[in-house]
Amino acid sequence: MTSTSTPTHCPYCALQCGMNLSPAPDGGVEVSERTDFPVNRGALCGKGRTAPAVLSSRVRLTAPLVREGGVLAPATWDEALGRIADGLARTRADHGADAVGVFGGGGLTNEKAYTLGKFARIVLGTSQIDYNGRFCMSSAAAAGTKAFGLDRGLPFPLEDIPRTGCVILVGSNLAETMPPALRYLTELKENGGTLIVVDPRRTRTAEQADLHLAPRPGTDLALALGLLHLVVAEGRTDEEYIRTRTSGWEDARAAAMAHWPEHVERITGVSVPRLREAVRLFCTPRTAMVLTARGPEQQSKGTDTVGAWINLCLATGRAGRPLSGYGCLTGQGNGQGGREHGQKADQLPGYRKLTDPAARRHVAEVWGVAPDSLPGPGRSAYELLDALGTDIRALLLMGSNPVVSAPRAAHIEQRIRSLGFLAVCDVVLSETAALADVVLPVTQWAEETGTTTSLEGRVLLRRQAVSPPAGVRSDLEVLHELAARLGVEKGFPADPEEVFGELRRASAGGPADYSGITYRRLAEENGVFWPCPAPAGSGAEGGPADGAVPAPESPAGGAAHPGTPRLFLDRFATDDGLARFVAVSHRAVAEEPDAEYPLLLTTGRVVAQYQSGAQTRRVDELNAAAPGPFVELHPRLAERLGAAEGDPVAVVSRRGRAVAPARITTAIRPDTVFMPFHWPGEGRANTLTNPALDPTSRMPEFKACAVRLEAVRT
Ligand code: SF4
Repeated sequence: MTSTSTPTHCPYCALQCGMNLSPAPDGGVEVSERTDFPVNRGALCGKGRTAPAVLSSRVRLTAPLVREGGVLAPATWDEALGRIADGLARTRADHGADAVGVFGGGGLTNEKAYTLGKFARIVLGTSQIDYNGRFCMSSAAAAGTKAFGLDRGLPFPLEDIPRTGCVILVGSNLAETMPPALRYLTELKENGGTLIVVDPRRTRTAEQADLHLAPRPGTDLALALGLLHLVVAEGRTDEEYIRTRTSGWEDARAAAMAHWPEHVERITGVSVPRLREAVRLFCTPRTAMVLTARGPEQQSKGTDTVGAWINLCLATGRAGRPLSGYGCLTGQGNGQGGREHGQKADQLPGYRKLTDPAARRHVAEVWGVAPDSLPGPGRSAYELLDALGTDIRALLLMGSNPVVSAPRAAHIEQRIRSLGFLAVCDVVLSETAALADVVLPVTQWAEETGTTTSLEGRVLLRRQAVSPPAGVRSDLEVLHELAARLGVEKGFPADPEEVFGELRRASAGGPADYSGITYRRLAEENGVFWPCPAPAGSGAEGGPADGAVPAPESPAGGAAHPGTPRLFLDRFATDDGLARFVAVSHRAVAEEPDAEYPLLLTTGRVVAQYQSGAQTRRVDELNAAAPGPFVELHPRLAERLGAAEGDPVAVVSRRGRAVAPARITTAIRPDTVFMPFHWPGEGRANTLTNPALDPTSRMPEFKACAVRLEAVRT
């Protein structure tokens, strides 16, 4: 490690808080405030503050593991890489290229996501690649693309939030997921703005709201339609805006007018007066925003649900105008960049569509291959995992832990166990890595350099601050080595800046254009918002891969593009420049409660754990704060069950049973129970969840499934 402090970013969520890392007196790494990064201005949550503990964790993997006689045993890198190359090559030879699957993660840097997608399509020749971001915000991405022609989580910077008139926050618990971001809502209220929170639970975020609407899980679509109905009925639409900046209004209007407020009240449980109050608060100020997160998105109708909230913005003239708009609060650390660079089943780098002939030509040229050699779209994340052991016989997995995070997790665990060959790259022996034939120990955030793209679309440089322990290698080195062993000697550099140079060319001219961004700019400007095209003539606007990285600043081509903090102010990214209304109607959750399973389960997060907990469950301080799962239930349910606070309670769905201590609170609806999903084993919430998929985004229905409660006699 260098003796001075290194400015970098947190390894966890999509806020990508800035932090400084420096040597600690005990030989470890110390986190200190980094006030020059505007998003968090030095503030960190407990996860960020304790992140260095994972670097020196006693359960850190520092040698490859290879399964021998049913047991994982230490091996040399040569032996482990050889086993992986053999396993993948043999499967491909015996069963065809699509019998090999690749599964990535929304925490991988842009360089890794880019290289993993290229590796799957060029080296393995498989179409079967997807990643865990499909489980995160894919519905919002699909809805944003439909409406605006482009998905960038937030099309405006976070700093705009305190200056708008009203925010409707739908299905987001920022106080638990991104605590430093809560200040934007606090400042909004200090500035006289109002906050409406839509959540079935009275969360710590909902407690900050001027108005909290608590709909039944899975009914946010009806709620948005009811609000739009009232907007029309009360004459609050912006007709000039609708006429000049949108298309498709008449169909969307007709769909909303079919949802009478009284009908919406019956579906959602939110009273008509509260609907009217929400409309008044949202429509009175000149500017307003709707921000969604996993609540409306993780549904089998997630794309339509987000579309309904976007319709509300469009009907009131609240998109593509200063201090107004729709945005998605992306969750994972590189949830935004992770979906842009080609690890998604249906996409090529630069957010290009795999089915678009021009996109295929462009990327194939950068990669130096024939467009026809690129496979077509593959299965989505759940469908890919569900095909393991049958159509897909071997899997290479990076940056994900589906044994804990996938829906219907016991079934997915069985599918993983039935694989002919599994290779996992990770920093610890996650629950999924423990099932692998080969595990490769890899470097983590502070031990390597790379870029991420935050929920604002701000591309950031995460710098290496410390040397990795002996025995580990970076994911890029792994892909470089594997490509060579599988017969592809060139095109897979292990140097992240070299990969970024190629990524810039691959993205040039596409929706998410990074071609004008360089590592030097990222360091000097504290991040750059995409799209940021390179000036013409700079050498970074695309073209064939020749191994050369474009000159960093390319002044010869003209002034550098400043980046784009705010999108859509002049026109939307559709062919005609107009935002598109999408006519949507309410439909029930895929699994409605019945006599056998009379309640709804919804799942979510707690502040001290992150995703599947693979990293945060290895940090003592975080485990002390959040030691295990729980079942949140209303006192009326607890009384009926005869359960007291802390008693073990079984939650049973059609897919299995999970047991965790009762947490009794009036902050949840009496028809709903809640479980956080960060833990494996008996209390694994995803044992219960329903993999019913959204027809557009292929998002599973994590947020609502039918369950019953059973008392557990000890
Ligand atoms: Fe890290 Fe997110 Fe916490 Fe910030 S809010 S410190 S990015 S986990």
